[in-house]
Amino acid sequence: MGSRKVAAVFLALVIGFTSGMVLNVKTSHAKTVYRDGFSYGKITKSIKKRINGVSYKKNKYITYGDLRYVKVKYYNYRGKEKEGELIVNKLIAKDIVEIFYELYEIKYPIRRIRLVDEYDADDNKSMAADNTSSFNYRIIAGSKNSLSMHALGLALDINPKINPCVGGAHGIVPPNGKPYAQRDASKCSGKYADKMIHKNDEAYKIFKKHGFFWGGEWDNMKDYQHFYKVAGKYKKIGRYEW
Ligand SMILES: [Zn+2]
Repeated sequence: MGSRKVAAVFLALVIGFTSGMVLNVKTSHAKTVYRDGFSYGKITKSIKKRINGVSYKKNKYITYGDLRYVKVKYYNYRGKEKEGELIVNKLIAKDIVEIFYELYEIKYPIRRIRLVDEYDADDNKSMAADNTSSFNYRIIAGSKNSLSMHALGLALDINPKINPCVGGAHGIVPPNGKPYAQRDASKCSGKYADKMIHKNDEAYKIFKKHGFFWGGEWDNMKDYQHFYKVAGKYKKIGRYEW
């Protein structure tokens, strides 16, 4: 092989290698599609624009790189198919698309799934709207400086109005979920009593199968909307009941 030919082959190799690399980089940036309508991907510029200073605040615990933007489909309370969006920790992104796909398959009723940013990252507003959501950089309601599992994107609140938090410092949260503090569906006066989460029901089983804990099983207070998973480096923190 003449030196010119060697150079040409070398150049071809470099081009091939480089384009392959570019391709790989593109692949890793692309979203992962689990099923039609169910995907997760990195936080893009346009998402950053929506959440920066709202649900995402500059901090030392969680970066944009730790988070994933998730798209799912679901059936609302009237049985109509809808699209939802969530932001979760990358450690549970795969779990979340799988969980929501399973819920979708059994037509599990969910009121709405929107980013908490649409409620100015105000948890009370989001809960009162019965909005299912996950990431929100905030401390635990009523605490001085305890970081919520939602701040790490490791917790989700499912239909929070009909699955309120009961027995905490603030009584029943959200307040408009009061009828649903009565968890016996036959005694509950709420319109959607039949849609509440119970131990060993389908939603509970699906989350449990994926290694999540349920706030409805806490001893001190009951957070019926709250599912969470302690994963990766966060295991070291060693507090399971946030
Ligand atoms: Zn929660």
